Amino acid sequence: MKSLIKSCALDFLRLISPHLNNQSSILMYHSIGNNPVFFTVRPETFEAQMKYLIESKFNLVKLSELIRKLKSNENIANHVVVTFDDGYEDNFLTAFPVLKKYNIPATIFIPTGLIGKTNTTSAGEKLPIMTNEMMKEMMMSPLVEFMPHGVTHNELTSLGREKIKSELADSQQFLGSFGGNVSVVAYPRGKYNKDIVSLATEYYQAGVTVEEGLVSPKNNLYLLPRNSIDSSTTFNQFKAKVSGAIGLYQKIKKIRFS
Ligand SMILES: [Zn+2]
Repeated sequence: MKSLIKSCALDFLRLISPHLNNQSSILMYHSIGNNPVFFTVRPETFEAQMKYLIESKFNLVKLSELIRKLKSNENIANHVVVTFDDGYEDNFLTAFPVLKKYNIPATIFIPTGLIGKTNTTSAGEKLPIMTNEMMKEMMMSPLVEFMPHGVTHNELTSLGREKIKSELADSQQFLGSFGGNVSVVAYPRGKYNKDIVSLATEYYQAGVTVEEGLVSPKNNLYLLPRNSIDSSTTFNQFKAKVSGAIGLYQKIKKIRFS
């Protein structure tokens, strides 16, 4: 019922605000495949969504590029960023060919201690994470960048200060050893608090959450919202998440519950 109300609200808000205007949208994917996990998007759906982004002429950039523009006060109008969390093997096998076909950049957040292993979802399902070799092959492409998602994927809010520091620093150091600027963190399982954000500022230029909404030039760089795309996302909802609708929806929600 709640999702139906949200769906209708987004449809209506998209009529009022069909464009991103001076804002940008960071999309969050996980697995792309045919497994039954809730967050998994079917390959044909993913391709249709990517095709829509290209046909709608969004300014598609990697997350590090969006951060660079935000920090230097450059225009971020109509920008869309495609991100993946956890670095599942299917990001390499299934999503990467689609990204290359449409020339779409992407940012992958990977828990560096789980490379070549499996991740257990909140519902207990196990999905394989890509190997070092897959990662290296993707890194050769100018389209893909890897950013840390902690070492163990444990919720940072459940750890002590020293352990949080090592999750932030060790994952950054590992990815840094491949070269490039490892500048953004995705808080594992979307969990953070004031102390974690303050620690993140010591290592990173920005951080992304799992709260929905749009990025505007005045956003806190360590609490950048992302719009989740999963198996329940209809095509209309997808369109709403790259329009002003999702920003308006979040604003209305905040007023209602504050
Ligand atoms: Zn994750």
